Amino acid sequence: MSRLLIQGVEGIANATEMGAPGLASETWDTTDPKLREECGVVAVHGHPDAARQAYLGLYALQHRGQESAGIATADGQRLANIKGMGLVSEIFTDDVLQKLPGQMAIGHTRYSTTGDSALLNAQPIRVDSTKGLIAIAHNGNLVNLGNIRARLERDGAYFQTTSDSEIIVQLIAHSKAGSLVDAIADSLSQVDGAFSIVMMTRDRIFAARDPRGFRPLSMGRIRNPEGPDTIVFASETCAFDLLRAEYERDVLPGELVMVTGDGVTSRQYANGVPQSSCIFEHVYFARPDSRIFGRWVQESRDQMGRQLARESGVPADIIVPVPDSGVTAALGYADESGIPFRFGLIRNHYVGRTFIEPEQRVRDFGVRLKLNPVRNLLEGKRVILIDDSIIRGTTSRKIVRMVRGAGAKEVHLRISCPPTISPCFYGVDTPSKRDLIAANQSIEEIRRFIEADSLAYLSLDGMLKCCGSTDGKGFCTACYTGNYPTQWVDVDEILPATASI
Ligand code: SF4
Repeated sequence: MSRLLIQGVEGIANATEMGAPGLASETWDTTDPKLREECGVVAVHGHPDAARQAYLGLYALQHRGQESAGIATADGQRLANIKGMGLVSEIFTDDVLQKLPGQMAIGHTRYSTTGDSALLNAQPIRVDSTKGLIAIAHNGNLVNLGNIRARLERDGAYFQTTSDSEIIVQLIAHSKAGSLVDAIADSLSQVDGAFSIVMMTRDRIFAARDPRGFRPLSMGRIRNPEGPDTIVFASETCAFDLLRAEYERDVLPGELVMVTGDGVTSRQYANGVPQSSCIFEHVYFARPDSRIFGRWVQESRDQMGRQLARESGVPADIIVPVPDSGVTAALGYADESGIPFRFGLIRNHYVGRTFIEPEQRVRDFGVRLKLNPVRNLLEGKRVILIDDSIIRGTTSRKIVRMVRGAGAKEVHLRISCPPTISPCFYGVDTPSKRDLIAANQSIEEIRRFIEADSLAYLSLDGMLKCCGSTDGKGFCTACYTGNYPTQWVDVDEILPATASI
């Protein structure tokens, strides 16, 4: 059953759990072959119905996490927080939203990579600290949390959750800095890794990005001719469209923005660290209608498809995307190559979201549940399939077999990024190196395994160029190169398969 965790809401005891309508998590299927993002965040300042604005923002960010969602609001006096398991629309019914009064809100939608997959670790996290009540919502993963947590516990910190986001709040609570904003800046400069954060006290909103700018976070404005504008923040700009907010700018790497009744102020709490924004946001995670890291995702994906056609073109009759994420790159490939684009695979959008399931039999069944070939388009054709990644290889093999089984004469697979050879430690749930097929096999071995007539990946230089990087800088590419921008990595996760035998 979906459940809610309610804090600070009048008339309801703290941390009450109650039944909620919606999707039971155990009904989700178990087959998603894709890598997962950890979460999306939103914040709203200066709106009479801030909770509903946060809800709309989260609704637009649902693709970034489907396990749990939460909204905290503040009205200058109180700070209420409701979070639940399931999808945003199932948790935040009208009745629930009415329990969240105030002109300020922060929200979070989550797929967990760190901390237990449980309601307690859903966000926003609300902590009553020495600096007052603070609610925090965080996208990304900290990589030095073990050391800091141990130090904080020695200093008497008591952790309510196993989520790394709470570490930031505890650092704030234990900071010796005089003002809250100094304490936040002091705390953020002690943690390493990926974080795009929104925070709220009873009367202020804060937004910050880590010094490398791994995860996106943008600021927007809803114009109000009769009073102060509403200031909003979101992981992706597609959320602004639903809110009718104008995109104003990105929160900069290493920047801490504060919004109060007096307006917006900002400080750079960290300088001089090279930017390493996650390039996989452009390859797969972010929605194509979002502008992140200063560039439209649609433009990057279109260019990736074009570059792929230039680098590894092959004679064929039709271009077929693996829906939905392969579509934009496939359109670019088709335009560049002059080969017609066809929806030769249809995705069933009603299958529901998926959990990783070790049992291969269930995974295989799931691919057929989710995708179905359009036989009359594929029969007798030489097909170029466009996808955005091969992780273990088993799903790609299933899709290649499916297309061939529908009568395709040849099946050529093209991947719109380089081979995934190393896990991510910055908020993307990748398998360890020993389970990544490209970390352990050559491209020819992978081609044989997936039973394609040919297989090619986009080059690293090509991908960087397509994302607007002319000098190869500005992006993290660690899952394609093994070159991590931080010193802290989990050594066990980066051992190849041969080392574990
Ligand atoms: S390792 Fe890959 S997925 Fe992770 S932040 Fe870097 S580019 Fe993104």
